[in-house]
Amino acid sequence: MPSKEKNLNDLFLHTLKDMYFAEKQILKALPKMEKATETDELKKAFAHHRKQTEIHVDRLEKVFEIAGARAQGVTCEAIKGILEEGEEVMGDFADSAALDAALVAAAQAVEHYEITRYGTLRTWAEQLGLKDAAKLLDQTLAEEKQTDELLSKMAKAVNQRAAA
Ligand code: FE
Ligand code: FE
Repeated sequence: MPSKEKNLNDLFLHTLKDMYFAEKQILKALPKMEKATETDELKKAFAHHRKQTEIHVDRLEKVFEIAGARAQGVTCEAIKGILEEGEEVMGDFADSAALDAALVAAAQAVEHYEITRYGTLRTWAEQLGLKDAAKLLDQTLAEEKQTDELLSKMAKAVNQRAAA
C-alpha cells in the first residue's frame, strides 16, 4: 500500500531543493564555458545566461519562502552527470574546430534538464495552490526555453564551422 506520509507537497519541496542545488552548480559551470570559447557571441550568451541563472537562484529562494520552507539544496545526481559530461567533452575537444559545437550541445543538455524540472515544478505549484510560486517558476521556465532556442540558432553556424 502506498504510504500516506509523503505527499505532493513533499515531492515539490524535494524537487525544489534538487533545482536549488542544480542552479548553483550551473552557476559554477557557466564561467568555465564562457572562458572555453573564443567565439564572441557564444561568450556573450554564456555570460548573459549566468546573470539569468543568478536570478533563477533568487526566484527559487522566493519559492521556498512562499512554500514556508527553508532554502536548501539536495544533491542532484542528474545535473552533476550532465555537467561532468560537459567538462569531459570540453577537455577532449579543447582547441579543436568542434569545441563550440560541443559547448552548445552541453549547454542545451543543461537547459533541457532545467526545462523538464521547471515545467514539473510549475504544474505542482499550481496543483498545490501556490499561485505566486507557479508564476515565478514559469518566468524561469520561459528564460530556459529562450536560452535553448538561442543556442539552437547559434548551433547552425557553430556546427558548420565544426564540419569544415
Ligand atoms: Fe536556470
Ligand atoms: Fe539555464
